[in-house]
Amino acid sequence: MRQTSQRIFLLVGLLGALVLVLLIGLRVLPGIMAAEPAVTVRVLAPNVPLGGSVFIQIDAPDATAVRVLDGDVVQPARRRADGCWEAVLGVWMEEKPGRRNLTVEADVNGETLAVPAMYTISPRDFPVQRLRMSKAQDAIYESPAVEEEYRLIREAINSQAAERLWQGGFALPAQGRLSTQYGTQRYRNGKKVGIHKGIDIAAPKGTLIYAANDGTVVLRGDYLLHGRTLVIDHGGGVTGLYIHLSEFGVSPGQRVKAGQKLARVGSTGVATGPHLHYALYVNGVAVDPLLWREVPAEW
Ligand SMILES: [Zn+2]
Repeated sequence: MRQTSQRIFLLVGLLGALVLVLLIGLRVLPGIMAAEPAVTVRVLAPNVPLGGSVFIQIDAPDATAVRVLDGDVVQPARRRADGCWEAVLGVWMEEKPGRRNLTVEADVNGETLAVPAMYTISPRDFPVQRLRMSKAQDAIYESPAVEEEYRLIREAINSQAAERLWQGGFALPAQGRLSTQYGTQRYRNGKKVGIHKGIDIAAPKGTLIYAANDGTVVLRGDYLLHGRTLVIDHGGGVTGLYIHLSEFGVSPGQRVKAGQKLARVGSTGVATGPHLHYALYVNGVAVDPLLWREVPAEW
């Protein structure tokens, strides 16, 4: 008798435990199934023209590092004050139009989570420009000094501070006539010499030039080809190049605010007349500055 009642107690106890496990399972399992994924990716305005930029927001609260893989390019994302991550990709003007698949990788609890994303590059026609230059001007392009100035300027363009200083759209830095567009195919004395990586704003010598956004002066130089040159690091992967200047109004290392006077228009270096050549680089890729006058509102 005693043994039987012990068995019944044991059986009831086991059944109770089973019911408890089932109840917990039923309550917890759907919770696990419906749980927020650890990483969500949003590509803002995913249809991008050649010379445009791709703005990517990544919600990965537990991540210690996040990066965007776009073909061969690995672009680290930056964590913002609100905890969200962000990355900007520049679309070079000679990229192939069409769909581009991205992978966003996030390091979470010692694991790497990969999330796919995409954007589409739309085609665009670029103008052709034929320039006549004197033999002496043409010869400058071949000199070793020019190779060195290209190297210095490139180094400054790539020296981006991790902290993003810029906020909102990038105003055009000078008033004047847009004389050469971004992407213009250039022929000098009948020979194709390259593509225009920025915009030219033609304006009288001495016209004031203002900072397009907040940043730091990372280069101030005077060169054979580029003439008087400024590079402004806006942080977060964005740098601005201002060349052919007549006078400087800022010093290397100086922090500048959007709209602050930087310099005056000139025709120093090799130039056919007074103008500002202004270029904007996103992680080293020259993009169309006209497309940066407005950036996504969430940015
Ligand atoms: Zn130019």
